[in-house]
Amino acid sequence: TDQIFAGLKIRDLKVVFDGFVAVGGVDLEVPRNDIRFLIGPNGAGKTTIVDAVTGLVKSTGTIEFGEQKLHGKKVHQIARMGIGRTFQTATVFEELSVLQNLDIAAGAGRGVMTMLRKRKGVPEEVAEALDTIKLTKQLNTPAGILSHGQKQWLEIGMLLVQDSKLLLLDEPVAGMSHDERDATGELLNEIAGTRTVVVVEHDMDFMRKFARSVTVLHQGTKLSEGTVAEVQGDPKVQEVYLGQ
Ligand code: ADP
Repeated sequence: TDQIFAGLKIRDLKVVFDGFVAVGGVDLEVPRNDIRFLIGPNGAGKTTIVDAVTGLVKSTGTIEFGEQKLHGKKVHQIARMGIGRTFQTATVFEELSVLQNLDIAAGAGRGVMTMLRKRKGVPEEVAEALDTIKLTKQLNTPAGILSHGQKQWLEIGMLLVQDSKLLLLDEPVAGMSHDERDATGELLNEIAGTRTVVVVEHDMDFMRKFARSVTVLHQGTKLSEGTVAEVQGDPKVQEVYLGQ
C-alpha cells in the first residue's frame, strides 16, 4: 500500500469557471512543516488553487493533507480540519483589541466563545501567538489602528491560535514596508517549523530573500519547481517573466 504523504498533496487539480480553465491539472506536494512559495504572473491560477484547497471554489482532482481528504468538503469542514488562510486584505475585527481578536479566533477553534468567559491572564496559546507575531506590546491596542503589516500578522496569529496546521497566505507582504517584509519573512520561516505553509507571492525580492522552495505557475499549469536558484535559472520561467 502507498505510504501516506504527511503534508499537502494535490493531484490533477482542475478548476473551470464558465468554460475557462483557471487551473488545468496541477500536482503539488508540500511536505509537512515546510514552506512553499507559489509564484507566477497575474492570472496564473495561484489564488484559485488556495480557493480550491479551502473549499471556496469547486474543483476536480484530489486534495489531501496528511490523512485528511479535503476535496469535496465544505468551507467550514475544511476550516475545522485545521486548514487556515489569509486574504490580501486582512480581515480582523477593527474595533476589538489584538487580544480580543485572538481570543475570538481561539474560541472559534474550540467551538466556544472564550471571550465571554471571565478569566484572568492571557491563555498560553494566545501568549505564544502574540510572541510569534511580535504584537505582545500591542495586546490592548484596537486592531483598527495597527499598521497594515501588523494587521496581517494579527490575521496569521488568529490562524495560529486556531491551531491551523496548514496555513495558506495570499500575498502576505503586499503593501508592507521594507522592515515589515523582512519581519514577515522571518515570521513565516519560524511558523514553518511546526506548520505547513503555502505562500502566494508576487513580490520577487521577497521571494528571493526568504523562499526555500518555489512552484511557478503559468496559465493554470505548473511551469517549474525547485529552489529559488533553480526556478530563476529555468529558461521557461525567464521567458514568461521577460515576456510580460
Ligand atoms: P493569480 O492568483 O495567479 O493571479 P487567479 O487564481 O486569481 O490568478 O486567477 C486565475 C484565472 O482565473 C484568471 O484568469 C482569473 O480571471 C480567473 N478567475 C478567477 N476567479 C474567477 C471567477 N470566480 N470567475 C471567473 N474567472 C475567475
